[in-house]
Amino acid sequence: MMVLADTLEKLSNACGIAGREEEVRSLMKSFLKPYVGEVKEDKLGNVIGIKKGKKNASKVMLAAHMDEIGLLVKTISKEGFIQFAKIGGIDDRILLAQNVIVYTEKGPLHGIIGSKPPHIQKEDERKKIFTYDELFIDIGAETQEQAKKMGVKIGDPVGFDIKFAKIGKNIVIGKAFDDRVGCAVMVEAMKLLEKTACTVYAVGTVQEEVGCRGAATSAFGIYPDVGIALDVTIAGDVPGVKEFEAPIKMRKGPSLTVADYGLITHPKVLRLLIDAAEESKIPYQLETGLPGGTDASRISLTREGVPSGTISIPTRYIHSPASLLSLDDAEKVAKLTVAAVQKIPKYF
Ligand SMILES: [Zn+2]
Repeated sequence: MMVLADTLEKLSNACGIAGREEEVRSLMKSFLKPYVGEVKEDKLGNVIGIKKGKKNASKVMLAAHMDEIGLLVKTISKEGFIQFAKIGGIDDRILLAQNVIVYTEKGPLHGIIGSKPPHIQKEDERKKIFTYDELFIDIGAETQEQAKKMGVKIGDPVGFDIKFAKIGKNIVIGKAFDDRVGCAVMVEAMKLLEKTACTVYAVGTVQEEVGCRGAATSAFGIYPDVGIALDVTIAGDVPGVKEFEAPIKMRKGPSLTVADYGLITHPKVLRLLIDAAEESKIPYQLETGLPGGTDASRISLTREGVPSGTISIPTRYIHSPASLLSLDDAEKVAKLTVAAVQKIPKYF
C-alpha cells in the first residue's frame, strides 16, 4: 500500500498542464482503483472513482484538480527559439532562467527560458521585469527546421523541470503541489474510508486553472448533494507577509474556506467541516477574503445548486515552479475529509 508521500511524489513529477492531463489521469485511475468500486472517465477527461453507500444515500463529490499551470509552444523562431503562451495564472517574474521540459510527440526535450543577457542590458532594462512575450525557450536547436525535427510543434505543453524532494521531517518540495497534493489527499481519504453510508464520488478534475471547467461538467453529471474541493491555499508564514494579508500557516492543520472570490461556503457545509474537525480533534484554521477560487465554486452552481466547501492544504509558493508543504498538514486534510464524509448523512 502506498503512503501519501509516495503518491504525491509520483503525481508531482508527472506533467499535466491544463487540458493535457493524460499522465496524471492514468496515475489517478490506478491510485483510486484499489479503494473504490468503479473508476470512470467522463467525456472531458475527469476521473471519477465511485464508492457506493447505502441505497438512496446522499451523494458527496470530492474534487481535486489534476491540471497545473504551465506554458504552450506558440511560435518557433527562424533561429530555433520557442516563444510561448501561458496557461493559468503565472507571474512573469518567475519565468526567467527556469529549466523547463517541452513535451513533444517524440518525447520530452529539456530547455531553459532565456532573455537578453544582463551584462549587455541597458541601465533601464536591468531594472525592468521581462514579460513572458520577451522571453524564449532555448532547446539547443539551430533552426526552426531542426526544432521541428526534434518534435516541437505549435501547442506542445511546456512544464517546469522540478523533481520532488523531501527536505526535512515531513517537509517536501516539488512541482504542481497545486493541486497534486489535493489529488494525493483524495486518494489517501478513499484508502482510509472503509465503510461509508453516503455514496462518494472522488473526482480528479481537468482544467481548473483556466476556469474550473472539469468541475462544471463532472458535477453536472453527478449532481451531488454536497461538494467538497480539496485544494491548496497560500501559507503566509514567510518573511514580508502580514497576518492580515495571508493568515494561514503551515503545520497548523487544514484550512477551511469561509468565503473566497468564487464561493461563500454553505453554512451547513462549514458546520459539518468544523464539527468533524473538532470531534476528531484535528486542528483547523479558518480563512476568508482570498481573491482566488476552487472547483467548489463551480460545483456549488450546478443545476439547482449544491452546498459546497473547500478544505485546503497550507502551501508556500503556490503558482511558482516549486512549492513547499508539510505532509503532516496533508495527512490531517485526508483525515478530516474522511471524518466529514462519515458525518454527511446526519447533516444532509
Ligand atoms: Zn488549485
